[in-house]
Amino acid sequence: MVLGNSHLFMNRTNRLAVIASHTQESRFLYPGKHWTFADLFGDGGSFVESNCSGSKDGKYELLTTINDAITEEIKDLMTKTDMRGQQTETLLAGSLAKALCYINKMSKEIKGNQEIKSRILVIKAAEDSALQYMNFMNVIFAAQKQSILIDACVLDSDSGLLQQACDITGGIYLKVLHMPSLLQYLLWVFLPDQEQRSQLVLPPPIHVDYRAACFCHRNLIEIGYVCSVCLSIFCNFSPICSTCETAFKISLPPVMKAKKKKLKLAV
Ligand SMILES: [Zn+2]
Ligand SMILES: [Zn+2]
Repeated sequence: MVLGNSHLFMNRTNRLAVIASHTQESRFLYPGKHWTFADLFGDGGSFVESNCSGSKDGKYELLTTINDAITEEIKDLMTKTDMRGQQTETLLAGSLAKALCYINKMSKEIKGNQEIKSRILVIKAAEDSALQYMNFMNVIFAAQKQSILIDACVLDSDSGLLQQACDITGGIYLKVLHMPSLLQYLLWVFLPDQEQRSQLVLPPPIHVDYRAACFCHRNLIEIGYVCSVCLSIFCNFSPICSTCETAFKISLPPVMKAKKKKLKLAV
């Protein structure tokens, strides 16, 4: 929330959206269902005015409203989701897709067809999900095409998928080693926009794990087979691509066949 508030403080035209990515659901924490376009773009929105509790003590009303909304939605999400087992994989690919859709919607609705510079920061404390590999990469390439930066702040184990996402879109990947300094990392590394970053001394780029997950077992592999039609990746050779069902002719050397025929004729 401090990062979000700071982002809004940096420039009057800055906008914010927060999406929670849980194990069974990805949900907009802010703006929620009750927000209208007028609320978000400061045209004296009715929702902000009727819901602001902090207006009398000189606080910036929007921040209070946003913080309250995020707190409430997160409480609601955590209490309504029942966790099964130790699984921590979240619906990250879906959340990123939602973020892209939101950015697309905002850029269409904004006045005067101004171009908006958008970026997505992923704060991740869950395991990577190789099951989402294909969806994830599709989202990343869509973001790259729209020139949307993806930054990643990883709190737990390293994420190969996010490393690739940041590398492809030009964002920063950072693993937080010292958790009490989280806010400092967020404000120092992720708050500045792309132009300001070039003037800062930021952590050096990391080595990117570019292994891909095979579509058959979702294992990360360095060398594998790629379908020449749909570019699916497999760790073992299979004569029929399981994704696009192309049948590959197994390469029995044609010379051998010819020789056999000749032999038969000779007999
Ligand atoms: Zn496999
Ligand atoms: Zn294929």
